[in-house]
Amino acid sequence: MASTSGKDDNKQYDYDYFVIGGGSGGVRSSRIAAKHGARVALAEAKKLGGTCVNVGCVPKKLFCYASHFRELFHDAEGYGWPKIDMKLEDHNWKKFIESKNAEIQRLNNAYEKNQKDNNVTIIKGYAKLKDKNTVVIDGKEYTSKYILLAVGGRPVLPKIEGREHIITSDDAFFLEKLPKKVIIVGGGYIALEFACIFNGFGSDVTLILRGKTILSSFDEDVRSKLSDELKKNGIKFQFETEVERVEKVSDDSFRVKFKNDNTPVDTNLVMFAIGRHPEIENLGLDAAGVKTDSKGVVQVDDYSQTNVSNIYAVGDCTDRKALTPVAIQEGQYLADMLFNNQQPRKVDYATVGTTVFSEPSIGTCGVTEKEAKEKYGEDGYDVYESSFKPMFVQLPKRDRKSYVKLIVENKSQRVVGIHIMDHAAPEIIQMCSVAIRAGATKELFDHSVGIHPTSAEEIVQIR
Ligand code: FAD
Ligand code: NDP
Repeated sequence: MASTSGKDDNKQYDYDYFVIGGGSGGVRSSRIAAKHGARVALAEAKKLGGTCVNVGCVPKKLFCYASHFRELFHDAEGYGWPKIDMKLEDHNWKKFIESKNAEIQRLNNAYEKNQKDNNVTIIKGYAKLKDKNTVVIDGKEYTSKYILLAVGGRPVLPKIEGREHIITSDDAFFLEKLPKKVIIVGGGYIALEFACIFNGFGSDVTLILRGKTILSSFDEDVRSKLSDELKKNGIKFQFETEVERVEKVSDDSFRVKFKNDNTPVDTNLVMFAIGRHPEIENLGLDAAGVKTDSKGVVQVDDYSQTNVSNIYAVGDCTDRKALTPVAIQEGQYLADMLFNNQQPRKVDYATVGTTVFSEPSIGTCGVTEKEAKEKYGEDGYDVYESSFKPMFVQLPKRDRKSYVKLIVENKSQRVVGIHIMDHAAPEIIQMCSVAIRAGATKELFDHSVGIHPTSAEEIVQIR
């Protein structure tokens, strides 16, 4: 591990800290390092804010908000408002995309200002390592005592015939019009969130999955209950199916052919969401001697240090949790350690809360039941669960269920896993992650007074 206090007093290098990638991890780490007094440069090839701001969390959440209105207009009748049945064609897509783009531009500008206000030198362009202390951008060389790789990732595309007709989430944010019929391949975060977004707007959505389940790493009960709700919303599923090729039929129509003799399907949009790969091929890792692992991601230790002692990596280019707040915390801890003499800190990945912004949403933190069985043994844990109808849907008579599950380790009586399906799950799970991290026991949950009427109160009322 590197020694602390990396501020280089004898100015042997151009910078103390050269950060490659202005996304979630890079922006935070560079700004905090500069606040601690380091001389910092931040290289960004595209737009500041990275995936999260430009083609990830932020526009995705705006898409979620926009897509919910159709259902809300419909459900308003239950509350005495006139019923408004909106169709896909009623939505002004062009206007929405313009508003979304303007908001992203506002954030890009705010990020740039914030970095500059904190004395971070922004260098626009694609950065490549020349050796362990030298970075090259557009032929110009910069030297630095420490280098941070925060280059994120990009969507994986399949190697199949007709891949030029396939879009990824990057493209989905810039579509010219809403598609009537959509095929999405994948069953992870992005596939499900976009399936719900398009379904919310009124598109006819089919999810194609290579396996037997959505969200394979999530708790089994949450997965199956979410599948039920998505089916009720009208989303169709084809499990154990793989796409063989995609053919263009017309400008906005494509034919999808499958490997296992399923009948070909015509659609207006084919989207693949089958994972992401680190953006490291042209980064010059070999020139600097930085090793990748068998999955092709940058290898780091618990403190984000690569095998080259002055080079670090955070965020999606490493194999940890590919989430914005994780990249931010890795970047923050690193800057604190290198430039503020702070004790090295490890991110507690086991208690990171996460959400799938589906409809209804999923919030999850801690172990799944399968993991509890492996960790504590068949009799080593208890499960408390509750299925209920959220109050909002009663008057519109919408058939929707919510679900809460607590997993408690028998020996310590600590709550070690919480899994929620509810429209409020993203907001509820944040505080659940604090409780799990604090080691809260089931008794502590039981004696906490609920807030009524909410979905969150179920968590302290399950017996
Ligand atoms: P990034 O944010 O990807 O930033 C990397 C930056 O490095 C990019 O700007 C890139 O242009 C730049 N770069 C790359 N190579 C170079 C180079 N050689 N020189 C200069 N610059 C370079 N996470 C959540 O927590 N919540 C969500 O709701 C959520 N939704 C998502 C939705 C989608 C559709 C996607 C794709 C992701 C989502 N994520 C979400 C994940 C989140 O966006 C990432 O985990 C996060 O952005 C990773 O941050 P990072 O700093 O590692 O990389
Ligand atoms: P995920 O890892 O979440 O899911 C990938 C999906 O693609 C899985 O269902 C997987 O199936 C399937 N898959 C993988 N390879 C193939 C293949 N060759 N053919 C067909 N299907 C395949 O990746 P995403 O792309 O959805 O998202 C990337 C990451 O970004 C997420 O893991 C998450 O960390 C982050 N993210 C976070 C969000 C949030 O916080 N709300 C939102 C969006 C992204 P199988 O299960 O069988 O392996």
